[in-house]
Amino acid sequence: MDIMYKSTRSKGEKVTASQAILKGLADDGGLFVPDFLPAFDVPLSRLPEMDYRETAYEVMKLFLSDFTEEELKACIHDAYDDKFDTEEIAPLVKKDGAYYLELFHGRTIAFKDMALSILPYLMTTAAKKNGVKNEIVILTATSGDTGKAALAGFADVPGTSIIVFYPKNGVSPIQEKQMVTQRGANTNVIGITGNFDDAQTGVKQMFHSKELAERMGEKGYQFSSANSINIGRLVPQIVYYVYAYGQLLKQGGIEVGEKINVVVPTGNFGNILAAYYAKHMGIPIEMLFCASNENKVLFDFFQTGKYDRKREFILTSSPSMDILISSNLERLIYRIAGEDADRTKALMDALSGEGEYEITQEMREGLSCFEAGFATEEETAETIRNVYRGADYIIDPHTAVAAHVYYEKAKDRGQKTVVVSTASPYKFTRSVTDAIDREKYDKMTDFELVDELYKLSGVSVPAAIEEIRTAPVLHDTVCDKSEMQAAVERILGL
Ligand SMILES: *Cc1c(COP(=O)(O)O)cnc(C)c1O
Repeated sequence: MDIMYKSTRSKGEKVTASQAILKGLADDGGLFVPDFLPAFDVPLSRLPEMDYRETAYEVMKLFLSDFTEEELKACIHDAYDDKFDTEEIAPLVKKDGAYYLELFHGRTIAFKDMALSILPYLMTTAAKKNGVKNEIVILTATSGDTGKAALAGFADVPGTSIIVFYPKNGVSPIQEKQMVTQRGANTNVIGITGNFDDAQTGVKQMFHSKELAERMGEKGYQFSSANSINIGRLVPQIVYYVYAYGQLLKQGGIEVGEKINVVVPTGNFGNILAAYYAKHMGIPIEMLFCASNENKVLFDFFQTGKYDRKREFILTSSPSMDILISSNLERLIYRIAGEDADRTKALMDALSGEGEYEITQEMREGLSCFEAGFATEEETAETIRNVYRGADYIIDPHTAVAAHVYYEKAKDRGQKTVVVSTASPYKFTRSVTDAIDREKYDKMTDFELVDELYKLSGVSVPAAIEEIRTAPVLHDTVCDKSEMQAAVERILGL
């Protein structure tokens, strides 16, 4: 049966998967969700024999049912190739009893590569299928990792251009260097004086502006999104949970059908939502642990049923999780509200109006498979240090937030647990070496720390880091958060 996509905020028209990918966001400001969650129909016992691409095809064909087999397989083969530094694509490594799912072996060494390696292919295929003649302008707000992964994915892709906004003082030096050295005539990178939520809000406003869309149309442009609100990001993220289950079987960690837990370091709620979808497709996942840093708005939500973004925004050592408005939570809210679009819209309006909303007791019952935890900055550093000393394994601060929650809440529950590892420690050298031995590394530059990290870990320095050591800065525009649209108009010549 063909799957269709509908908005979380109105009972409007349904669109096909390819149309949902092209549009990014529904016209009413809602997010696209599938009209049913398909069951995974390959026997679990076959998973250990399937490589990443085969697994990807079996999962994605269920959601992207208007893509032909040939189209989808071509997208998958072009995406998951030697851009990744390991044939496994997403290795599962056991350390101190936990199974770390390493999602950082792609071109920009963070988990965003898992979906953003394939999104440009899905997008251009979708454009062809729908007879789109306009140039597609990818407009993206980033807390650090999406920006670079999207830039790398869309650079010089014909028929597209990309504009990335990032918080000027809210990303790590290596994250910033990765973005501002991006090559490609169709790439644009702009720092804003504001935080990630400001960037995301500005981008959403431009998406909503009918007036802007009209002027763009006249010049032959249309927007789409590479943020995790795009269903073309979410679907490829389901794949690695299915793959991880297969790898656990293959390693003899579990028997077919045995339940596992997952711990996910969470910001915009895209990654953990993909795990939730995998569970509801029939992958034996018992509990989903939502791990937050000090911006623990999600922890409080799962504890109390009240989402309250009215609080101080804290810059932490896990900047890709410094988020107070977790966009993808809307898809979960919609589901636990019994797919009631009016109710979802009322809650989201309350969030943007009053800065908070509260769900009903009945809705809270739909959250029983979630448990939440958080790590303070001190706990994050302590976890990096302990895992290094105890297991001779170096993890980045985002992964450390999840590992902390694993030790605190998941370790002793009886099930095998997958800790989702979302970034290479090489992307956050300063925080990692600070955690291990601050006195020794304090005086060194970020790039000297790269070499020190190599000495500590024995893991070779990723190409993504070698590249930017000497690369020239190609983007140096900074604007106020109120000038984002003006910047876009200038770039597009509107
Ligand atoms: C984006 C990101 C996260 C958060 O993922 P969400 O899908 O936004 O919840 C965690 N860790 C890293 C390294 C990231 O880049």
